[in-house]
Amino acid sequence: MTTPEWNHVRYDNPAPGVGRVTLARSETANAQNYLMLTEVNEAFDVACQDDEVRCIVLAADGKHFSSGHDLSDLDPDMDSLPTIGTQCHFDADGAEGYMAREAEMYVGLCWRWRNLPKPTIASVQGKVIAGGLMLVWPMDLIVCSEEATFSDPVVAFGVNGHEYFTHPYEAGARLAKEMLFTGRAITAEEALRHGMVNKVVARDELESETLAMAAHIAKRPMFGLTLAKQSVNNALDAMGMHTALQSAFGLHHVGHSHNRLKYDSLVDPSGIQVIRDEA
Ligand code: ZN
Repeated sequence: MTTPEWNHVRYDNPAPGVGRVTLARSETANAQNYLMLTEVNEAFDVACQDDEVRCIVLAADGKHFSSGHDLSDLDPDMDSLPTIGTQCHFDADGAEGYMAREAEMYVGLCWRWRNLPKPTIASVQGKVIAGGLMLVWPMDLIVCSEEATFSDPVVAFGVNGHEYFTHPYEAGARLAKEMLFTGRAITAEEALRHGMVNKVVARDELESETLAMAAHIAKRPMFGLTLAKQSVNNALDAMGMHTALQSAFGLHHVGHSHNRLKYDSLVDPSGIQVIRDEA
């Protein structure tokens, strides 16, 4: 299958029935700008529209899966990007424009990926920081290498956490609070113990173990997989996942608005030093 020309993402079919989307911006530790997120979304669509693909892998080049949102590169002309939701007025003053951007580019895309009709597996190495979790958590299964770590330190920026606020569902309430309050990175072993990942493997076996799991899944009928995925997601929604996510997103923008009033900045400017001192 031919794929579009992308700047920050590759797509291939590395095993029978498997489509793989790879983050290809290792020079920035796969920091995410809006273009990269748009390309990830397009690549997922390629996989979903290919009748041969029954399981999708999201992998990443380089030492680290993703260092989060690229704070130096977040001011594009939204008119140049395709949108997937019903948000608008991206350049409006006050809270309106930026909330619309985050609703579209962060929560909207993550929720769309969480509901893709095919099983998805994140294949994770190195650090996953803040927005990095927004690529990992929307996936159905997570395979990570032994040295992988996961953190969301952005409470130091004066907000509640990253925008796809599913922390209690992913890590459990107790560990979610510890991650948010302390900003510390949890280890792969901790993540496994708390049910946040499915499997921890040696770094040099990450690709083969992920593809073996994906190929195993891909032997099953597509519709059965789709129904199973939707049924688990429906159970999470019955536990309030979507409502809780939207509620937290509103509080996230209380944080951004507070920072704008107090510091004329979306984030508390002292936060970056707090995070650096603890890194
Ligand atoms: Zn935000």
